[in-house]
Amino acid sequence: MGHRFIPHLSADELAARQLEGLKWTVNHAFENSPAYTRKLRDMGLRPGDVKSLDDLSRLPFTSVEDLREGYPLPLLAVPEEQVVRIHGSSGTTGKRKVMAYTQKDVDTWKHMMARCFEIAGCTPLDRAQICVGYGLWTAGAGFQLGCEHFGAMALPVGPGMLDIQVQILTDLGATVLCSTASMALLMAEEVEKRGLQDRLKLKRGIFGAEPHTPKMRERFEALLGLEDSFDIVGMTELYGPGTGLECPAHDGVHYWADLYILEILDPETLRPVAPGEIGEMVVTSLCKEASPLIRYRTRDLTRLVEGECSCGCSMPRHDKILGRSDDMIIVRGVNVYPGQVAEVLGRFPELSSEYQIVLTRVEGKDYMAVNVERGAKDLSGNDPALAAAVSQALHKALLVSAKVGVLDPGELPRTFAKTRRVLDERQ
Ligand code: ADP
Ligand code: ZN
Repeated sequence: MGHRFIPHLSADELAARQLEGLKWTVNHAFENSPAYTRKLRDMGLRPGDVKSLDDLSRLPFTSVEDLREGYPLPLLAVPEEQVVRIHGSSGTTGKRKVMAYTQKDVDTWKHMMARCFEIAGCTPLDRAQICVGYGLWTAGAGFQLGCEHFGAMALPVGPGMLDIQVQILTDLGATVLCSTASMALLMAEEVEKRGLQDRLKLKRGIFGAEPHTPKMRERFEALLGLEDSFDIVGMTELYGPGTGLECPAHDGVHYWADLYILEILDPETLRPVAPGEIGEMVVTSLCKEASPLIRYRTRDLTRLVEGECSCGCSMPRHDKILGRSDDMIIVRGVNVYPGQVAEVLGRFPELSSEYQIVLTRVEGKDYMAVNVERGAKDLSGNDPALAAAVSQALHKALLVSAKVGVLDPGELPRTFAKTRRVLDERQ
């Protein structure tokens, strides 16, 4: 495979780069970041103690709490004159995380994002409409950097502004759509409403930032006339979007193992799960200067995909992100993940991809309601029977009762960013 941005590395070459990066990172963090100096000293560790990749398992973990303690510039490991930028997370779960970047960090990120455009099969003749948040959020900046570095044409629209979106889509003939899964759905429905499908030149979608279901994806792919679409992963803590991308083989997400080490650990025991089992993604950066990450617990859940990919890319793969441990809700003592609800709803072709879970408490008892939407073409005649069938299927899968409400197509909120699927009104 002739990749320009993605190196082809043998397992040995990759391991050598990882070891070199790990040694550099631990040394750099120990010498320059008071937070890490303390952490490493507490474990009786000195930088020279890292002699092989196996020594990773002896290093302390870094958590969201560490980021909060160090707010606003957590883990900082360079003098301020080397910091050229900060970004903040969306704050989906709690306080916004702010991270600092040196110029080298920005360049690494740019390279990482260019790899994503490459894996998605883009060329310098592509025009990428970037419909994600600019500013504090990493998404806009990341896509912009990567697209330009890759050499394609960036159409930096940002999120929302549907009139301008469709204007740029049609007038400039965007060929690649970059957005959250929610925004892709919103744009697709808007294009359908305005009957503009024939005027689009879109070929590919690069979408991410939140979990999606096959149903959601099929719908925006069909309405936008996409030939293919690719799930992009990333987080503010690790530069931003572009830490990995699904490839045309659609069998997992290739991640850049020469830039960070990924461990999949059991969140309870903090030991590696068996190969192919689901666990928490724990990441260690290999060349991040301003805010290095040592065994950072992302709280995102996935599993490794074994073996070589048929697409020819030598970078390893993980499965799509199946959810975050913070997403878990407890209803009457039972653990429920929104993804499980989505999975059950996916079995009903009469329903759209959208849903909302509402939790309430009455006289000390929890109640769960799940609001769903009829698919575009289905009529309301069958609502009570449909609600009963969905409720029964949810009970069977989750062991929790849910009151199911069937709404009209488009009645549930659509968003430009990440959809909030759970409304917890119990406090
Ligand atoms: P937060 O949402 O925690 O405020 P970010 O804005 O940095 O922080 O978003 C990163 C998080 O978004 C990841 O940790 C992950 O939970 C989620 N995420 C990013 N990309 C995807 C994706 N393709 N699929 C599912 N979840 C994703
Ligand atoms: Zn592949």
